[in-house]
Amino acid sequence: MKIGFIGLGIMGKPMAKNLMKGGYTDVVVNDLNKDAVKELVDCGASAAENDEIGKLCDVVFTMLPNSPQVKEVMLGEQGVAAFMRPGTILIDMSSINPIASKEIAAVLNEKDVDMLDAPVSGGEPKAIDATLSFMVGGKQETFDRYKPILETMGASVVRCGEIGAGNTTKLANQIIVACNIQALAEALMLAKKAEVDPELVFEAIRGGLAGSTVMNAKAPMMLAGNDKPGFKVDLHIKDLNNVLDCAHSVGAPVPMTAQVQEILQWLHNRGGGQKDHSAIVHYYEYLTGETL
Ligand code: NAD
Repeated sequence: MKIGFIGLGIMGKPMAKNLMKGGYTDVVVNDLNKDAVKELVDCGASAAENDEIGKLCDVVFTMLPNSPQVKEVMLGEQGVAAFMRPGTILIDMSSINPIASKEIAAVLNEKDVDMLDAPVSGGEPKAIDATLSFMVGGKQETFDRYKPILETMGASVVRCGEIGAGNTTKLANQIIVACNIQALAEALMLAKKAEVDPELVFEAIRGGLAGSTVMNAKAPMMLAGNDKPGFKVDLHIKDLNNVLDCAHSVGAPVPMTAQVQEILQWLHNRGGGQKDHSAIVHYYEYLTGETL
């Protein structure tokens, strides 16, 4: 089986490597960043442009920033879709607007090309360990057929419904992560202002009801003043914009999302778009004039 992989960023690079380690060795890659392409070629992949990937591959994976990039790569001029053969499939692992997933799938289906939307949760460490959580939308029989490939990159692969359901699930995930980070920053700054050591607060509560994967990953970063991404502020803004778009079109209330989105936007406006999303703590540091 020949596999195309487009998008070799923080996530895509280790995921493509794990795909190859998992036995899918015939992999053709592309990215705007040719250093990333070279790194994969050094690991045994081959490199090709998008049209070639469309012509050659049975399965095409994309791991790109957002809906416009996936649409451009797949449906743009010289896009992959124009060259794909009937019976092949796109598995888009990017976190994009579920409405865009449905639009891309509709174009592909006209050419008898199938699609799964399969965004992930877990971030760079789990991408490296191949322990990501996949949330997948698409036909049951398509999911059953391609689940073993996804299992080379993830520890959990769950079908959530028809096409678009994977990205809807991802939006739910991103609301919970962003609001958790904000709550964590707010709570640790309260401790600091009340002259209780935030580090000890974290130690005391991490095993209780408030403890979470988010807390374990982000409290140490906030306490160390470490903003290295991880997951960038700008990518979380992108996800929450997709939440707001989707929520407005389906009539779901999302006031907490709107509030944390404004804090992320404030960070972006101050040049923090490329920082880890745990940099939300800087908003509280700015308001209080204190460093955590
Ligand atoms: P990234 O910015 O590190 O990587 C994106 C890659 O896509 C880059 O290498 C870029 O050069 C490439 N690219 C962009 N436009 C392209 C084009 N037109 N043609 C070819 N290549 C192109 O982003 P990432 O952190 O790897 O995230 C990828 C996706 O995964 C996003 O949708 C993100 O929301 C999602 N995600 C990220 C994380 C995380 O922790 N980083 C976690 C879960 C999900």
